[in-house]
Amino acid sequence: MSYNFSETAIEYLKGVGPKRAELLRKELNIRCFGDLLQYYPFRYIDRTKFHKANEISNDLVYVQMKGKIVSTETVGKMRSSRFIAKFQDETGSIELVWFQGIKWIKEKIHLGEEYIVFGKPSVFNKTYNILHPDIESLAENQGEITEGLYPYYNSSEKLKSLGFTSRGISKITKTLINTAQSSIPETLTPEIINKYRFISREEALINIHFPANTEILQKAQLRIKFEELFYLQLSLLMMKQIRLSKTEGHRFGSVGNYFNTFYSKNLPFELTNAQKRVIKEIRLDLGSGKQMNRLLQGDVGSGKTLVALMCMLIAIDNNYQSCLMVPTEILANQHFETISRMLNGLGITVELLCGSTKKAKRKLIDEGLQSSNIHILIGTHALIEDTVQFANLGLVIIDEQHRFGVEQRSKLWEKNEKQPHILVMTATPIPRTLAMTLYGDLDYSAIDEMPPGRKLIKTYHYFDSARLKVFSFLKQQVTAGRQVYVVYPLINESETLDLKDLMDGYNSITREFPLPEYAVSIVHGQMKSADKDYEMQRFVKGETQLMVSTTVIEVGVDVPNASVMVIENAERFGLSQLHQLRGRVGRGAEQSYCILMTGNKLTSDGRKRIETMVRTTDGFEIAEADLKLRGPGDMQGTQQSGMLDLHLADIVKDEKLIKIARDLAIDILKEDPLISTAKNQKLKEQLLRMKKVKGSWEKIS
Ligand code: ADP
Ligand code: MG
Repeated sequence: MSYNFSETAIEYLKGVGPKRAELLRKELNIRCFGDLLQYYPFRYIDRTKFHKANEISNDLVYVQMKGKIVSTETVGKMRSSRFIAKFQDETGSIELVWFQGIKWIKEKIHLGEEYIVFGKPSVFNKTYNILHPDIESLAENQGEITEGLYPYYNSSEKLKSLGFTSRGISKITKTLINTAQSSIPETLTPEIINKYRFISREEALINIHFPANTEILQKAQLRIKFEELFYLQLSLLMMKQIRLSKTEGHRFGSVGNYFNTFYSKNLPFELTNAQKRVIKEIRLDLGSGKQMNRLLQGDVGSGKTLVALMCMLIAIDNNYQSCLMVPTEILANQHFETISRMLNGLGITVELLCGSTKKAKRKLIDEGLQSSNIHILIGTHALIEDTVQFANLGLVIIDEQHRFGVEQRSKLWEKNEKQPHILVMTATPIPRTLAMTLYGDLDYSAIDEMPPGRKLIKTYHYFDSARLKVFSFLKQQVTAGRQVYVVYPLINESETLDLKDLMDGYNSITREFPLPEYAVSIVHGQMKSADKDYEMQRFVKGETQLMVSTTVIEVGVDVPNASVMVIENAERFGLSQLHQLRGRVGRGAEQSYCILMTGNKLTSDGRKRIETMVRTTDGFEIAEADLKLRGPGDMQGTQQSGMLDLHLADIVKDEKLIKIARDLAIDILKEDPLISTAKNQKLKEQLLRMKKVKGSWEKIS
């Protein structure tokens, strides 16, 4: 075969043509033959089983019914109009409803004719209905309704109106498979296929679209999932290997005076075992002569800042500068204060650089960086501006990584001729499998232990109607000397409605906690950064007892005396954000509380999120719950990763398979690091089809 069959544009498939090809591309991202082959059914239906109208309940994920349309009507006008068809079988009737493509559906259906409909039932006005069902005439289907598994493909209204219902998609897929059959390349080696007793790729693809029975379908799914995960892991591991072999790093050969003096004189507490282990892992990397690229994961409050600081001391011991980059000015300020305080007396110069840093100060900083007088620079994005030049940057630490895009990360990497070591820190608890996949090209360390003496945070859920009770609890806590956060959602910092909520809240709290007895701070995104800082500092120093704010304090802020976190409209926050916010308390010796306030009406997902928060403080359990509720596509960081080319495999459900695939990839690379042996020819061919890998690979082979 001289041309690449699977990359042939989809419009050349019989039955498609340019117009429908355009729509397939727009709606389903199907561009070529290969894309269609990988557009897998999202479920399989037994075409011989029909539900009766009187059996329908809300619990059914879908129903398939056989019957007649007895009447139709169009309700409403213009954009709000909908088309309703009454669909009847021997036992009763339901309504079929369309909001879009009305013209097309009106032409398509005829009263009295028999149809098969398929869709998800729901209740409206006490009758069951199906919104935008799939509908096909029984006559058309005659002969095709055989027992067994019938593929069901997701489609869109637009595609349906051009004939690409699930059945239409199935048809062109059949055409494709009939023409393609002999051109579907095998992508795994005979060795792997034998080892796991996989079926061939060709057989798998045929059976995933047109399964002969359940048993072969499962085999087909397993094979395809494995292949996706295996190539994902193989490519990640290869890129890591390429990075390690290519990029020489600064060698931090010794741990010296600064580190040792700090450890023996300045360290205010004993390190946890997890902190010790992680510092050791990092130290080995730094001394290896290879560039480090490591992810450090540790739940909120696990003590990552200290680890960062000690790594920077190793850099200074080896005459290198370090920088610490954080997502907000508030956090930069705080790190600057804490770190300067902790380094007191060691003769180390720390500076702060943010967007709001004045020109004159900037100039001084520039000079200090060039002359190596500054050892540690802390700041926001301002650090990666082109104008910031270090004399000898050896280590870059990025805190709360999920706020930075991949692009910003790589911009830092390019900065110096010899790339500095990179340590990325994140509190976003992601399940291990996801970390392995998302950050599979990074090395990975975890702080899986909290500093001793922390009391478990008690979490309660109250409806807004119980506000008075909550206020009186706050008063009691403030009287006892504690401080309180009250956080409002401000999803988009420019939303005036949200801002009004926040100001209303602030006003009612100042009424409840009036001057001169009490003082209340307020911080939100639209304030000037100097004002924000002033308010924050008042709270840090204990001059104000309450802090009313938006989520700007979500990340990193550390005020140990603050022991109550009230989250308003908690139902509007995602789980990982709630967890981050709650992590702002429970940092001191006092019993801490998190109070989740919500309206009376909660969606089912909203309720699950609140229940999860009340039930557990374990970041990993919360991450798993989050992943289940939202799916991996929504996980922080996954959108930007661009790495996950998974069609069938599921990063949560296929955890075991990920592990197997990764282990196999590791074994293969150990034996054949460049995948260059004849035995692995099939793997090489497939890797070359993957553009991302191809680029970096060509550089070395
Ligand atoms: P995070 O991992 O969320 O960034 P921080 O670095 O802000 O956590 O640390 C949280 C708090 O725990 C800080 O007040 C810090 O001083 C304290 N801390 C860190 N390490 C220890 C330790 N080994 N023992 C006691 N307290 C610690
Ligand atoms: Mg932190």
